[in-house]
Amino acid sequence: MKDLFKKIPSVDSVLLNEKIKKLLPEFGLSSVKNAIREAVERVRFEIKEGKIKSEIEKRVYELIPSILSKNLSPSLKRVINGTGIIIHTNLGRAVISEKVMDYVSNIATAYNNLEYDLEKGKRGHRDIHAERLLSEFFGVESATVVNNNAAAVMLIINTFAEGKEVVVSRGELIEIGGSFRIPEIMKKAGAKLVEVGTTNKTHLRDYEEAINENTGLVLKVHPSNYRITGFTESVPAEEIAKLCKEKGVVFAEDMGSGNIYDLTSLKIYDEPTVSQSVKAGIDLISFSGDKLLGCVQAGIIIGKRKFIEKIRKNHLLRALRVDKITYSAIEKHMQLLLTEKFDQIPVYKMIFKSPEEIKRELENFIEDFSDAKEKLKIVPVKSKIGGGTTPERELDSFALAFDLEKSAVEIENYFRSREIPVIGRIKDDVFFIDFRTILKKDISVLKDYVGKLLSP
Ligand SMILES: *Cc1c(COP(=O)(O)O)cnc(C)c1O
Repeated sequence: MKDLFKKIPSVDSVLLNEKIKKLLPEFGLSSVKNAIREAVERVRFEIKEGKIKSEIEKRVYELIPSILSKNLSPSLKRVINGTGIIIHTNLGRAVISEKVMDYVSNIATAYNNLEYDLEKGKRGHRDIHAERLLSEFFGVESATVVNNNAAAVMLIINTFAEGKEVVVSRGELIEIGGSFRIPEIMKKAGAKLVEVGTTNKTHLRDYEEAINENTGLVLKVHPSNYRITGFTESVPAEEIAKLCKEKGVVFAEDMGSGNIYDLTSLKIYDEPTVSQSVKAGIDLISFSGDKLLGCVQAGIIIGKRKFIEKIRKNHLLRALRVDKITYSAIEKHMQLLLTEKFDQIPVYKMIFKSPEEIKRELENFIEDFSDAKEKLKIVPVKSKIGGGTTPERELDSFALAFDLEKSAVEIENYFRSREIPVIGRIKDDVFFIDFRTILKKDISVLKDYVGKLLSP
């Protein structure tokens, strides 16, 4: 075994090898050196374990490229979403419009007026960006943007209720996926939570009794992922707004997801829209830039100017602020919405895609697999909007399923281990790929993978 160890080449000698030298322009000296060291270590281990007994040097060289690509490849990569869940929390939430990203790229790869007032020719405030377009779209006086909705909620609580009480209906005290817990956020924001009502019933008088001189804020929370059904009662926002006005207390809503549009055309009736909340007279409304707008991760606060101004004076904002990338993405996205370019916004396109259209796409897809066609099935499935929106509401859709001598789990593994992983769903022991969430650019990749699955 000693002789084998002696055959391991030195890092320096490997570096002089012509093939290895060719790797330098692409990977850089230090990465290549690290990869050689790792390869040498691994070969030493393999000898010790008795796994290799000859061709020691060859083994070192053979390991280097794969170590390099493993060490240098990003962990965040593109996947193909075949789950039919449009705003998939685990798969990056919203797919952002290419129009938006083109615009972002133009702004972010150059200098810009992020904190420069072009009229006055001196230092300006970043916080004004996106305000005009958001206000215009939502019909409010003012708006501001922070890192995400959790940050927005924390900032609102901290601004109006630090050292004070926040009144929340017990039925709305929920835990949202990814550990967003209102009671915890409340504590971190320095406020005391006052729960009113019971899990299924809260009356206006419960709010009335809870509000006192220590109340800093009344908070309404959109129960995203869950819904208490049956014998429930909550107080209409208009009534709480009126009460808060009388008592001189700020009334805010954590909307999280919710909707911009009325989805009744899709037979989704009970999802609140932002405009309903604005009309109800809520002072401040916060929501996610990705879940609700279908844009980048961000927390958006809209509402009355005097309250937004107060938020702007909170030093916590400095820690939660966003970058030019977020501002420019939201501004361009709002411009698309204001000019009704819905077909440029992937999330809306997917929500409003008809089952017939999806079926047609699948038929076209299958057309290419001439003789293997009978192994591919088009099956009716249900898609979801996701992202905490409309928890039980489903959209009719169609999916690709496979008639093969393989189990659903085997097929799932095959797709998940591709270079661009394809994530589908298994239901009743059948693996399927819902085409509602398949993007145009996914099609050719998917065709390639399906082809290889059918005739390996
Ligand atoms: C999603 C959600 C949050 C958290 O929003 P992030 O943007 O993920 O920080 C908070 N409240 C509600 C009601 C939500 O749905």
